[in-house]
Amino acid sequence: MLSANDPSLHSWIQIAPTSDFQIQNLPFGIFQAPDRDPRVGVAIGDYVLDVYVLTQHRLFDMLDVEDPTVFHRPSLNDFMALGRPIWRQVRGRISELLRNDNPEIRDNRELMAECLLKQKDVEMLLPVQIPNYTDFYSSIEHATNVGSMFRDPANALLPNWKHLPVGYHGRASSIVPSGVPIRRPKGQTKPANAELPIFGPTQQLDFELEMAFITGQPTQLGSSLTPEEAEEYIFGMVLFNDWSARDIQAWEYVPLGPFLAKNFGSSMSPWVVTLDALEPFRVPGPVQDPKVLPYLEYSGNKNLDINLQVTLQAPDTEEAVICQSNYKHLYWNMNQQLAHHTVNGCNLEVGDVYASGTISGPTPDSYGSMLELTWRGTNPLQLPNGTERKFLHDGDIITMRGYAERNGVRVGFGEVRTEILPAI
Ligand code: CA
Repeated sequence: MLSANDPSLHSWIQIAPTSDFQIQNLPFGIFQAPDRDPRVGVAIGDYVLDVYVLTQHRLFDMLDVEDPTVFHRPSLNDFMALGRPIWRQVRGRISELLRNDNPEIRDNRELMAECLLKQKDVEMLLPVQIPNYTDFYSSIEHATNVGSMFRDPANALLPNWKHLPVGYHGRASSIVPSGVPIRRPKGQTKPANAELPIFGPTQQLDFELEMAFITGQPTQLGSSLTPEEAEEYIFGMVLFNDWSARDIQAWEYVPLGPFLAKNFGSSMSPWVVTLDALEPFRVPGPVQDPKVLPYLEYSGNKNLDINLQVTLQAPDTEEAVICQSNYKHLYWNMNQQLAHHTVNGCNLEVGDVYASGTISGPTPDSYGSMLELTWRGTNPLQLPNGTERKFLHDGDIITMRGYAERNGVRVGFGEVRTEILPAI
């Protein structure tokens, strides 16, 4: 039998070659529609497949899913909690049902109308209920750029950076899906020439191009994972925008790190692409020198070749590409991130979100934040119609997109698109 990733697979659904949602992808999300409450869907071409409807028509009876109502929930958490063997069974069965030689849905007009909805007719919700959110800082290019700007270009990386995947605990309550606007935060800042801090809307609102992985299995408090074991706990990945207020950050971050400059909002894409679907896109990571401690050692290809793009659409201008990067640039991979996160016994929960840190590449057009693209505002971006930007303005729309491609197969993430609203 062909694997769900086989490049030769085709669906009876017409799918444009440029679509992110080929039959080899099958990402999971949560949607609602005028005639149905929130539930699990799978993206295929321009459609959403209603997974709960499939179970009602007994098309999952041969699987080891004891309670089909896990697909009739407002988050993926209960499905993810069933574990990787079940994730694989479900994705494999959906792949089979959508193949051009399978008549089960293809030749049943009534069922097809019930289980396939146009994506434009549904609303995508946050895919998971998020107990915990951690943000890493794993791009050496980003850490070097930020260290050069805020500290010392000669010693941009702090002494710990190449020995451990630096991270901090973020705020889960303010993570929102694509399409939900972000309001400009207010806070305390201290202008360079001022003696005392001032209060008001941030003047340096920024995005951070990141990806995040979601854990689908818990660990016991007190237990640790090796980089090899970590993989079995990861359900899939999304695009992630870690909104940042640079002026608030610069004043507040010493000595405990990011706080109100970050926790006012983060945005994520609604479709979770499974780690299984990303398997064909594995690539080697960068050489890690100095050698890492044994608990962080790994083998095999743990980085992923995922093309990433950020666009900015200012009011009354066209959408302009301002950054093209790739997830493969990351110095620390997600196996190492999870091994490090659990090495002290900290437990994982189902639905946790672990963001990568800003994914900057080696060239200036691959920098993943306004901070770096404009070098802290000293080199403004030129947009269409003569518009300039140092940081983001009210009404600006930031869109992030990502896809992997190999052997003619494209596995994409869709987008995370967010408009900035003025401060209250
Ligand atoms: Ca970040």
